[in-house]
Amino acid sequence: MSNLQNLKKTFITEPLLKRFLSFVKIWTTSDSSVADKGIQPSTERQRDFAQLLQNEFRLMDVSDLTLTAESYLCARIPASKGYENCPSVCFLAHLDTVEEVSGKDVKPLVFSNYDGNPITLKNDVSLDPDEDSALAQCVGDTIITSDGTTLLGADDKAGVAAIMTSVEYVLKNAVPHGQIEVIFSPDEETGHGMDHVPAGWIQSKFCYTVDGGDVGEVEAECFNACKVDVTFEGRATHTGTARPGMVNAVTMTAKFLQMLPQQESPETTDDYQGFYAPMEVAGHIESAAVILFLRDFETDGMSRRIETVKTLAKATEAAFPGGKVDVKVTEQYKNMKDGIMKNPVVMEKLVQAVKNTGLPVRFVPIRGGTDGSRLTEMGFPTPNIFTGGHNFHSKKEWASLSQMTSAVEVICELVKLWSIEK
Ligand SMILES: [Zn+2]
Repeated sequence: MSNLQNLKKTFITEPLLKRFLSFVKIWTTSDSSVADKGIQPSTERQRDFAQLLQNEFRLMDVSDLTLTAESYLCARIPASKGYENCPSVCFLAHLDTVEEVSGKDVKPLVFSNYDGNPITLKNDVSLDPDEDSALAQCVGDTIITSDGTTLLGADDKAGVAAIMTSVEYVLKNAVPHGQIEVIFSPDEETGHGMDHVPAGWIQSKFCYTVDGGDVGEVEAECFNACKVDVTFEGRATHTGTARPGMVNAVTMTAKFLQMLPQQESPETTDDYQGFYAPMEVAGHIESAAVILFLRDFETDGMSRRIETVKTLAKATEAAFPGGKVDVKVTEQYKNMKDGIMKNPVVMEKLVQAVKNTGLPVRFVPIRGGTDGSRLTEMGFPTPNIFTGGHNFHSKKEWASLSQMTSAVEVICELVKLWSIEK
């Protein structure tokens, strides 16, 4: 092993793995029913994790630490001597894991020198390289999975571990650097991750979230997103004497849902295609309600979708005389592309950093929301960096140690690149 590889092993790979394994064992599942009420953190266990990270920063002699009431852990690392005029950059990752799959009692398994065969976990959960091309490319790598009963939590503990390890690397090895800021945030998975972000604390003009997947992937585009509440008002009568007079809101709802373009649903689209997603339906004869999520990468495309929903609502109303259909549109988040492209340097540095680590750069559109899009809207252009985690939000979640190591290298490289810019 060369000297450089030895250094990498000692200062990045080993501490990174140790950290990651200890972080995933910490239960930090968020709770959207609480977060939706405006309560943050939605679960106290996220705060416990933030406190643990705060202590870890202290051990690295990072003293400018703020833990907000809502459990945002903010750390500021002053520039090294002579680099005080370099731009400050901020790195973010989230503390929580998604609630749909259990994140309690995670027991990570480490497969060193992966042999390329299917990995069978408890409950017949199987990771099959024939069905998972990313896994097939990891022969010889160290793969980390859950035991099959829970998710792994690489989303986003791989990001948290990558940032912590990068900060440690920069400090321990006296890498010249401008000011570095770090924010670990709660409740990303509930969609409320940036609701109480202390924007006033951030001195950096540019931020990076470390919350992506496959190695080399950088993300600067996400959906435009709207939530649509469609309410159906019918007229109830006794079912035995319903003719004439009854207008059934349940039937109206079914008619409306039937008319949505089936070929533009989440399960029939990918890549840059948008969709209409019925998320929830509830009701009875007198009134019913549907929650729809609309997603589109283009602003025009989103307007068209909203118009389509309104037209279908009117058509439903027309088909049920006496009934009423109401449409209420709420914007959830915006594609961050425009905000990032106004400040191309933020992406240029990232692309350069990935290239400098010897990796091919892959631009991937995020088919979902991201804290980065909210931050970009707030005036901090924020692309997303890969973590080396895969199959997020599932029991088949896994992470590659060499890819996680690459994420650390990209972060360190970014720190170096920003320290040249005066
Ligand atoms: Zn995430």
